[in-house]
Amino acid sequence: MTLSKRLLSLSLAALIAASAAPPVLAQPAVSAPPAKGGPTAMVAAAEPDAVDAGLKVLKAGGSAVDAAVAVQAVLGLEEPQSSGLGGGAFMTFYDAKTRKVTAYNGRETAPAGATAELFYGPDGKPMPKGQAIVGGRSAGVPGAIAMLHLAQSQHGKLAWKDLFGDAEHLAADGFHVPARMAAAAASRAPQASQPDAVAYFTKPDGTKIQAGEVMKNPAYAATLRRLAAEGPKAILEGPIAEQIIAKLHEGPYPSAMTLKDLASYRPKATPAVCRPFLAYTVCTPPAPSGGPAVLEGLGILARTDIAKHRNDVQGWYLFSQASRLMYADRDRYYGDPDFVSVPMEGLLAPDYLDARARLINPDKAGPPPGPGKPAGASVRAPDRTQEPGGTTHLVIVDKDGDAVSMTTTVESIFGDGKMVGGFFLNNQLTDFSFTGKDPDGAPAANAPAGGKRPRSSMAPAIVLDRQGRFVAGAGSPGGPSIIAFNLKVLVGLLAWKLPVQEAINLPNLIGFDTLYASEPARYPPGVVAGLAAKGVTVRGGGFGEGSGEQGIEMTPNGLRGGADPRREGVAKGY
Ligand code: GLU
Repeated sequence: MTLSKRLLSLSLAALIAASAAPPVLAQPAVSAPPAKGGPTAMVAAAEPDAVDAGLKVLKAGGSAVDAAVAVQAVLGLEEPQSSGLGGGAFMTFYDAKTRKVTAYNGRETAPAGATAELFYGPDGKPMPKGQAIVGGRSAGVPGAIAMLHLAQSQHGKLAWKDLFGDAEHLAADGFHVPARMAAAAASRAPQASQPDAVAYFTKPDGTKIQAGEVMKNPAYAATLRRLAAEGPKAILEGPIAEQIIAKLHEGPYPSAMTLKDLASYRPKATPAVCRPFLAYTVCTPPAPSGGPAVLEGLGILARTDIAKHRNDVQGWYLFSQASRLMYADRDRYYGDPDFVSVPMEGLLAPDYLDARARLINPDKAGPPPGPGKPAGASVRAPDRTQEPGGTTHLVIVDKDGDAVSMTTTVESIFGDGKMVGGFFLNNQLTDFSFTGKDPDGAPAANAPAGGKRPRSSMAPAIVLDRQGRFVAGAGSPGGPSIIAFNLKVLVGLLAWKLPVQEAINLPNLIGFDTLYASEPARYPPGVVAGLAAKGVTVRGGGFGEGSGEQGIEMTPNGLRGGADPRREGVAKGY
């Protein structure tokens, strides 16, 4: 994380600390659930205009996946610091008819010419992150749009070409600049001072755009028109692809990406990974997503009595310890399973989870746990991956009950700060480990390689009941903290039985090695002191990025949504 990014997140944390009284917890039935005949379709996303665009598609008879395309198109315009046409995504999709859950992988991919030394400088040493994130070689082949196109061709009801109208209109005729976008543009993040970003965010009078001002992006409108007409080819082939390659070859750390790399991008669709948690089944994409790590955290917690400790000292203590165990394994073993063997079955095996859960001392936290030795694990180097933030989460349920939970990203804020066709290019390859080997020569699971997809923390979740019916969808951005953010929402919702909004409002807590990063002001009275007495001293501002958790749950009276008050999201249904 860059210093300016840290400052941005610290000021956000200060804002939260200043404004947030500890959340008042209600029983699920108390927090004004929708009346009978409540919503049957809903969109939760990080910007209100994006949510409205999604709702319009749903009302026109579109499916959840159709709406996701429209939402992504608006987010790329109004939240360009987080996601867009130049980025990647993971999507978990629930098909109400078949009760099957599918994982779509639209992760950015390293060009064929990338090597394990991708981020080594001329001195033969890993380069400083600040240099790497704005260099052309940080960009992977973008996959979010190709992924959405694949999913839409399988589960869409409207024509692809009809899904971009709202975004195009906002780009051509003007939109109100959201406060977070203006703050990111004015931040000291290195991407915000790249020439393309400066040109985009500077008004004719030489000052930067401000929140609430009307801004246009005619280049983006033109790109959307092409995308509507041609599909993903509009950006992966032809003139825009040529501009992407030219842009990424500029500057001191040029990319090896070729037109062939762009044209040969393929999204993937596989069955989701689903595991039991209490009375539920939780599904996420497989690695290189962070989903299975969340499932490991849940599996460990299912072996404790956390359900009996709603938002109290012991509940948060158990959470903090499961978080440390989960991250220790995740950091050692996760990478792209098409290139390295990820011992996922071993990590999620009941006897392995039993052994991990037994490492939690019920009374007092011990030294940080190391990674375990799950069945199928190879020797792996300690991980050296650093992940800054710049990502967003959306959840959509349509009237047929199909559901989308999607985390979408350009990696750091504004990706690498380079623009083509009105959108930013990602710097996702900085999610690879900068050093491919440890001093003993053991290979890192997440070392860069040509055609490989970098490890992700993103973990869009869908929860089902034991009959395979939709219970909830949820997820968050937040760099490496995503895994703990998602774990918290799922524990709040499923173990503590809170309405999804209250689960989102709960304090975030990341137990990682010796660190317990959290939001001390958000705990009920006495919890912070109680945790300290058990050896868990929570500190504010220690995670790179505030969460942006969004969720939708099914209740007996219809759908109920939640959006993270730490960002600008809303959940709306009808
Ligand atoms: N690049 C990160 C990942 O894929 C996400 C960054 C973020 O959430 O801001 O895991």
